[in-house]
Amino acid sequence: MSAETNEKQIEPETAARINCPFCDEDISARAKKCRHCGETLDVSMRKAEEAVRSSERAAAYRPQAGSKNKVAAFALAWILGGFGGHKFYLDRIGQGILYLVFCWTFIPAIIAFIEGIIYITMDDERFAEKYG
Ligand SMILES: [Zn+2]
Repeated sequence: MSAETNEKQIEPETAARINCPFCDEDISARAKKCRHCGETLDVSMRKAEEAVRSSERAAAYRPQAGSKNKVAAFALAWILGGFGGHKFYLDRIGQGILYLVFCWTFIPAIIAFIEGIIYITMDDERFAEKYG
């Protein structure tokens, strides 16, 4: 029986251990990410991650592209549709002018009437996607 065979080799892994500042579990001092809670420990990596996170948050809180109100578009289509009122409201200026030019034919009014129905029955998300 020799004691030498039982002698433990000191692994570099166990040589430097720290406690995770986030979950207090024992982890390697060289770990970039805690394997218990998944938090990033490396300072520069952490900063980069936080920058990404905050930019994502900023994007999420940005006022929605859908600033146009479909009820307003519907009302305009029915009241001023013959003159392209809803088209001007929805930034379709070219089409609005076309409606205006042909208003005397009453065709734009008929199309606008139908468009008004389309707007009001359209799903909010789809409306924002198309006209927002
Ligand atoms: Zn942790």
